Amino acid sequence: MNKKVLLAATNNDGKAKEIKQILGDFFQEIKSLKDLGLNINPEENGSTFLENAQIKARAVYNHIKGTMAVIADDSGLIVPALNDEPGIMSARYAGIDADDTKNNQKLLEKLKGMTDRRAYFICTVVLILPDGKEITAQGKVNGTILEKPEGGGGFGYDPIFFSDELKKSFGFAAPSEKNAISHRARALNELKQKFILEQGHIDD
Ligand code: IMP
Repeated sequence: MNKKVLLAATNNDGKAKEIKQILGDFFQEIKSLKDLGLNINPEENGSTFLENAQIKARAVYNHIKGTMAVIADDSGLIVPALNDEPGIMSARYAGIDADDTKNNQKLLEKLKGMTDRRAYFICTVVLILPDGKEITAQGKVNGTILEKPEGGGGFGYDPIFFSDELKKSFGFAAPSEKNAISHRARALNELKQKFILEQGHIDD
C-alpha cells in the first residue's frame, strides 16, 4: 500500500490538471483515472455537491480496493438570479452530451438582458485515505458572468466568469493566478490544513 500516491477521481482533464498543480507538493505522485487507464463513471445522482463528491470518491476507492488515497471534487457554478442554476447540473447544463461551449451559450442566453449577473463557483472535495477515513472541505470564489467569453484558458465556465479578485476572466488568468484564489484551490488548501491537523503527516 502506497500512502504517498493520490488518485484524482475525475475524467475532467481541467480538474485533474488543477488538482495536480495545487496538491503537487503534498503527495509524492498524483495520478488521474486516465493516467491509470481506469474507466469509472458512477451516476452522480446526489442532491448536493458533497453527496456527488462522495459518490465519485467512494466508487473509485472501492474499485482500487483502497490501494491508494483517492480524491474527488464536485464543483459547479451558482447564479443566484437564475435560482442557483446551473448548480450541481453545471457539467450537464445544456444536456447530457453538452460540451463547455454549449453550456456557456445556454447560460449567456438565459442571462440576456439581466443586470444581476453575480455568480460564484463552489468546490467540494472528498479525500479517502487508504484506511477508509474521509476528509471533506469546501471552497468558494465570487464573480460575475460576462456578456461574452473572454480568454481561452482554463475550462468549463472560465471564459465567461469575471473574477472579483483577479479583475479579469478566469479564461484570461494564468494557471498560477487562478490557483491562488479559485474555489478548487480554497477547498484543497482547507483539506491540506485538516489533513495536517488530523494526521500530522501523510505517510504514517
Ligand atoms: P462535476 O464534474 O459534476 O463536478 O462538474 C463540474 C462542472 O462545473 C464542470 O464541468 C464545469 O462546467 C464547472 N466547473 C467546475 N469548476 C470549474 C472551474 O474551475 N472553472 C470553470 N468551470 C468549472
